Amino acid sequence: MISAPPDETETAPDAGAERLPPGLYIVAGPIGNLEDLSPRAARYLRQADIVACEDTRVTAKLLRAAGSDRPMLPYHEHSAAHVEERLLERMARESVALVSDAGTPLVSDPGHGLVRAARERGLAVTTAPGPSAAITALSVSGLPTDRFLFAGFLPAKATARDKAISAVAGVPATLIFYETGPRLAATLTAMAAALGGRQAAVARELTKRHEELVSGSLPELAERYAGTEPKGEIVLLVGPPEAEVSSADALDQALRTALLTMPAGKAAASVAAALGVPRSEVYARALELKA
Ligand code: SAM
Repeated sequence: MISAPPDETETAPDAGAERLPPGLYIVAGPIGNLEDLSPRAARYLRQADIVACEDTRVTAKLLRAAGSDRPMLPYHEHSAAHVEERLLERMARESVALVSDAGTPLVSDPGHGLVRAARERGLAVTTAPGPSAAITALSVSGLPTDRFLFAGFLPAKATARDKAISAVAGVPATLIFYETGPRLAATLTAMAAALGGRQAAVARELTKRHEELVSGSLPELAERYAGTEPKGEIVLLVGPPEAEVSSADALDQALRTALLTMPAGKAAASVAAALGVPRSEVYARALELKA
């Protein structure tokens, strides 16, 4: 069901003092370039009763760019339940714009609980959509865009990080991660070990003066960034496995042949390497065939 504020239309005039109808307005902001703030997003920021945001210093700049004088209310991942409750009560009679420090709220940013609760209460929820670093990076990466998986930030600890990488290794899609400069080199090394020679890209400082995109295989990128801590904000993208189970028959055929002379583990490793398919997937199929 689409629930939008009753009087709000796409062609609503921009009357400075006019207030938006009550409800929650998810407002996407730029990811580094103020020119990317859309006219509608700017209008919502001028016409909302209040603006819920992560960091008032960051959002103050955005409001200045939008010509907005609306009051801000801090709302972040660790906001106490009573802050959320207060916002929900207010959006029943006032318009609440939700912004994050960069890009689209809720994308690796707070807001999910607020949107769910607002919807459960039948409150109007709508959005002024805009940039997100994940999609921006994907669009310039040159990697396949027909299927992609946004995986957000990897865990900081090496064991949990490696587990998270393994969990998505077999997904036949371009993988998109948010990453930080200090962790990039270690992540690329771990990925090269777990995912092999897949094509990848490091997108840095998108839409900003020092925007940069570096492409290569995972081992090439791991070598290039070894010992470095690139500055700025980073999206790391990994292309899909080369020959994702392109043909189940081809996989079965290769496995059957290998199983004639090798135990399941060895057969899976050799077929996985030959076809560029994740070993875990091939091993599972090898066990099925043996059974
Ligand atoms: N909500 C945001 C969005 O829609 O993209 C993401 C917020 S998340 C807390 C911040 C992360 O997004 C950064 O650590 C970085 O990985 C990525 N990011 C944000 N802006 C970026 C930019 N201009 N260039 C590259 N990555 C960016």
